[in-house]
Amino acid sequence: KILRVAIMGLGSYATRVAEAMESCTKAKLVGIISGTPSKFESWQRKYDIPDKNCYNYDNFDRIRNNPDIDAVYIITPNGLHRDQAIRVAQAGKHVICEKPMGLNAKEGEEMIAACKSANVKLLVGYRMHFEANTLEIIRMRKEGELGKIMFFQGLCGFKIGDPSQWRLNRQLAGGGAMMDIGIYAVNGSRYMVGEEPIWVTAQETKTDPVKFKEGVDETIQFQLGFPSGAVASCLSTYSMNNLDRFFLNGEKGFAELQPSTGYGPIKGRTNKGPLELPHITHQTVQMDEMSEIIFENKIPTVPVDGEEGLKDLKIIDAIYLAVQTGQKVELKD
Ligand code: NAD
Repeated sequence: KILRVAIMGLGSYATRVAEAMESCTKAKLVGIISGTPSKFESWQRKYDIPDKNCYNYDNFDRIRNNPDIDAVYIITPNGLHRDQAIRVAQAGKHVICEKPMGLNAKEGEEMIAACKSANVKLLVGYRMHFEANTLEIIRMRKEGELGKIMFFQGLCGFKIGDPSQWRLNRQLAGGGAMMDIGIYAVNGSRYMVGEEPIWVTAQETKTDPVKFKEGVDETIQFQLGFPSGAVASCLSTYSMNNLDRFFLNGEKGFAELQPSTGYGPIKGRTNKGPLELPHITHQTVQMDEMSEIIFENKIPTVPVDGEEGLKDLKIIDAIYLAVQTGQKVELKD
């Protein structure tokens, strides 16, 4: 069975996802939702999309009456995800939503509730959860090859350009680097260590308060504590290039990835040698596996459901609170 997907928001990442989906065997791009009518023609031509599968932000609730679309993949600015996901769910279609799933845990909870009551699935675009070298490290950790896990380091950042882009607009982005790229370190801490953190501490630095306005974080360092006693130390930034590195240390071994979350190839090594599993375009594997998750109830090694997205949002809420108060924040379920 093929997962027939409509993409909402035809920006740069949507373009990448659409191209990757051309190699999918279990998912297919069949529809588009955009506020810019001039984009329709080239997308329709390139992907052979009929007029009846094209919607705008005012009329996409009508997708309810379209039997040829199974799911909508929301690839718009973060601040729009919540409302759009709820509308898609109410239209009876499965929701795939880009990260961050929403702006905070409250939004995440509302999205989960809406999908639950509409009886549709909610998945988050965590493409690293399907990446082979990442999964190999998780396998080694689970099978005890690294011994007891003691430490994780996640460094995630890039130097952001154009100051007028939505990523630097608090309302649309929900914050700054943390919502966009720091989330990879939050998420990575959890799947690399294999536990849920119980406390957070965090410190913010800002070198350019004109570009990074109130509520838009430039650089945050944060630390997580896990029930086993393992700790994580992470950096999220919009001010440094070539910052894409994970390091996991256990009593018997280590694993590192650099780059760790870029579009690939992901490169890494462990104490046993280099990690050399072949690169497959992340979004191709992701969409094929999401088809199996939706139609065959497949359980992935690392979840990509709404609850998984919510866990990251709860930690990000706690990171922002720790920055604000200067205090250690305890995480409760
Ligand atoms: P982008 O700016 O390139 O595209 C955003 C699209 O949303 C544009 O087509 C824009 O026209 C449209 N849009 C609709 N309403 C808008 C509004 N009110 N204001 C501004 N734009 C509006 O951004 P992008 O890089 O494609 O990011 C989109 C989403 O995808 C974000 O949530 C981002 O975090 C996520 N993303 C994920 C990955 C990943 O690897 N998983 C990579 C890049 C982006």
